[in-house]
Amino acid sequence: MRAIVVGSGAGGAIAARELAKSGFEVTILEAGKPFRPLTHKVEWLSSLRGSWLLKDENSIKHVFPHYAVTRASADLAIFRGVTEGGCTSIACGNMVRAESGLKEIGLDLSDEFEEIEKSLTFSPIPRERWRLLTQQMYDEAEQLGYNPKPTPKVDDLSKCVGCGYCELGCSTGAKWDSRRVYKDYLGKGISLLTNTAVQRVLLDGSRACGVLTSHNESIEKINADVIVLSAGGIGTAQILKSSGLPARDNLWVDVVLTVGGVMKDSHMLNEPPMAWFIKKDKYILSPYFDLLSFWFHKPWKDVAMQDRVGMMIKLADTEQGTVAANGTVKKSLTKTDIECLDEARNEAKQIMEASGVVGPFVDGMVHGGHLGGTVPLTKDDVETMHPSWLPRDLWVADLSLMPRSQGLPAMLTTLALSLRVTRKIIKEKSKS
Ligand SMILES: Cc1cc2nc3c(=O)[nH]c(=O)nc-3n(C[C@H](O)[C@H](O)[C@H](O)COP(=O)(O)OP(=O)(O)OC[C@H]3O[C@@H](n4cnc5c(N)ncnc54)[C@H](O)[C@@H]3O)c2cc1C
Repeated sequence: MRAIVVGSGAGGAIAARELAKSGFEVTILEAGKPFRPLTHKVEWLSSLRGSWLLKDENSIKHVFPHYAVTRASADLAIFRGVTEGGCTSIACGNMVRAESGLKEIGLDLSDEFEEIEKSLTFSPIPRERWRLLTQQMYDEAEQLGYNPKPTPKVDDLSKCVGCGYCELGCSTGAKWDSRRVYKDYLGKGISLLTNTAVQRVLLDGSRACGVLTSHNESIEKINADVIVLSAGGIGTAQILKSSGLPARDNLWVDVVLTVGGVMKDSHMLNEPPMAWFIKKDKYILSPYFDLLSFWFHKPWKDVAMQDRVGMMIKLADTEQGTVAANGTVKKSLTKTDIECLDEARNEAKQIMEASGVVGPFVDGMVHGGHLGGTVPLTKDDVETMHPSWLPRDLWVADLSLMPRSQGLPAMLTTLALSLRVTRKIIKEKSKS
């Protein structure tokens, strides 16, 4: 039987591997190019800050074309990886269970989480490898009663050189990404076509029978017995809408705002990002040198790299963004989002000040990159993992399925969701 998996990120990687293991002939269709980390030194870029070349966030394409940038509103930019491995190739390697909203719909992913966790090596960055300021901020946060914890990572620490550029890929191969999930099956059940974007799903009556793709200038139809959309919260919604199918206006992005302060010669970039985190109800706080704000955000321009300090707020935002068939995204911060950010900003500032970091404290660029919610599962879908409005033989296996925002790293949850969906596909197709 032939399966198409659209996207090679967290969701697509698991779907492709599991289908191939069960004897499907799988083709992964990936819109992006093969991933290459930015290996050369990028310090020289600092001198170009504020210049035409690094004028705003869209300029990232001159530096690192694997990022796709979308402006969702005046107050929110969205970043995602359109490349082999999707957002996992530009992730920081943090991995935690993010389960907000699952209990409400009766979905228990414990078995899938356990299975995936067993297959990976989790290791927080040891304290002695944190910068001194990061250690101090941890201690102060503890003193202040915030209960910080080292962040679980899936990095191979023996290879990590602590360069801090995780989000530009990993030149030493220390960082896990989804390409590792299926690499042993390439040529043995899985074919990967990069630079091949799916435009829409083809229908034959009430069932999906293939996809229309574009590759360079050419358009091609590819038929299959099963089509799995794992193009991420934006990509999957865009394909569905282009196919006349109603993706939901429920996009969430886990809003990120890094509060910037100053400490002379703290060299915060030179450590693995987000070495520890504080978990609050709607957000996390975590030490983070926000490269994107450093390069592209004008209010951060006057502080040199070695002196810039950042504390990230990652917020579970209100789920109400829309994605159009042409890929346009509309989403703004709500009053609740702004109130939560205000509360978190005060806490971030308090921890930094207690650690000797001084002002001016300046907000970084508000952006999001955990994209979900556009095909939200409901109670009625949990048994089949196939929302009833999707045509037969068309499945979704990515973070789009997650109804609620998390304010937490989302890769592990995506892997678990995709595992559950793919096992359902295999079961259903074995009957036919
Ligand atoms: C900068 C950054 C850092 C992050 N760091 C972390 C972290 O440390 N830990 C963590 O848990 N999470 C992190 N995340 C989030 C995490 O990577 C994502 O939540 C997760 O990868 C989502 O998986 P997915 O399969 O839904 O989508 P993705 O991984 O984004 O995969 C979607 C894939 O579909 C492809 N695609 C899109 N449209 C099409 C189309 N039309 N045709 C064909 N292919 C298409 C894309 O190119 C991409 O490869 C980070 C995200 C970003 C942006």
